[in-house]
Amino acid sequence: MTILEDELIELRREIHRNPELAGEERETAGLVAEQLRAAGLEVTTGVGGHGVLAVLDGSGDGPTVMYRADMDAVDVRYNSLSFPRSGRVFDESFASRVPDVAHLCGHDLHTAIGVGVARTLARDSEGVRGRLVFVFQPAEEPLQGARAMLQTGLAQRLAPRESYALHCAPFPAGTITVSPGYGLPGVDNIRIVLPGGDDAAVASVASAVEGIDSAGFPQSVADYRARFHALLDPEIAATRQESVSLAQWTERTPDGQPAAGIMLKVWPQERFPELRTRIERLAARAGGHVEYPYDDPFPAMVNSVELSTAAGLHLSTALGPESVLWGRASWPYNCEDFALFLREAPGAMLYLGVADTEAGMNGAPHTLDFAADERAIGHGVRAMTGLLTHRLTAGPEGDGPTPPVTGAGG
Ligand SMILES: [Zn+2]
Repeated sequence: MTILEDELIELRREIHRNPELAGEERETAGLVAEQLRAAGLEVTTGVGGHGVLAVLDGSGDGPTVMYRADMDAVDVRYNSLSFPRSGRVFDESFASRVPDVAHLCGHDLHTAIGVGVARTLARDSEGVRGRLVFVFQPAEEPLQGARAMLQTGLAQRLAPRESYALHCAPFPAGTITVSPGYGLPGVDNIRIVLPGGDDAAVASVASAVEGIDSAGFPQSVADYRARFHALLDPEIAATRQESVSLAQWTERTPDGQPAAGIMLKVWPQERFPELRTRIERLAARAGGHVEYPYDDPFPAMVNSVELSTAAGLHLSTALGPESVLWGRASWPYNCEDFALFLREAPGAMLYLGVADTEAGMNGAPHTLDFAADERAIGHGVRAMTGLLTHRLTAGPEGDGPTPPVTGAGG
């Protein structure tokens, strides 16, 4: 392992020990800014909350490419999957010191990798043609931080041509997965209000919503991992081109009316209008009506077909074809506000494999047992350093070819 990799693992552990919830990423942002300034980047802090923006100008002309990492931790009480725990602990020497707050989604690794990519490229800016923009985003978990950062006008000001990010996934460490044209679902929040209705009426309308095709949530870590791996299997993935996952609960409106709360995660997002209409009809039939507490649905995260394919082919050449996996469907259960960056500048979120099943590290984000093989940090830095350097010298449309049909191992 190189000195840089050792330092990045140290940085990851420091952040892991002191996890900060969405909107509170002060210390994490401070560590990021300090390292990036020391590496010679032009750093702005306090961008849309605790966001950090760092610009690296290369030695020659070229496009602007953006790389985004997220920094916030998970509220374990409300935002984790409560599958039975294995009881194994992998972070004994650097476990979270904050009760009920932990990096269960791997954002500590994402942040360390982003710092590593920026430091590596700053050291070798002779090889950089054009401009790299590094975005360290707060508040991803509540899907607020990307919007807050973009509202500062950064995309207009910097005009990136492409944007990239990584997310930890339960694939083997040493692999990286591209999923051209796929991504993560959009989310819609719907409230069915039944004025004067009783609990039984609310329960009945809520159960009618279940009739909307729902993928059903994974029931165990093994199930979760198996479903993730199914994205790589062309035959299974072909049967999962659309998905709706559904959560529902009973609640009261602010003025005390009985209501059913519904959360729909939907792929592709073009299905939102149809699903809203179906639920509006259901509500009307039950004598109620529908409200949309957040107005429009939050968009799906859609990877560019061309740029994801180009990324996969480049990484196959750079790292070896065995280390690149091809995802052929979208994961139905988690949303991602990198969606908003991709709408400003097309690109890709890649899945970084962090699992080591022999050691018992499941690599499955949001499980109480989430553990990651730290060797994935160096791997992620090598992959993204090479990819970003390559994109600055590549044409704007990707390299054009279609993804290979085989190579879906793992
Ligand atoms: Zn995440």
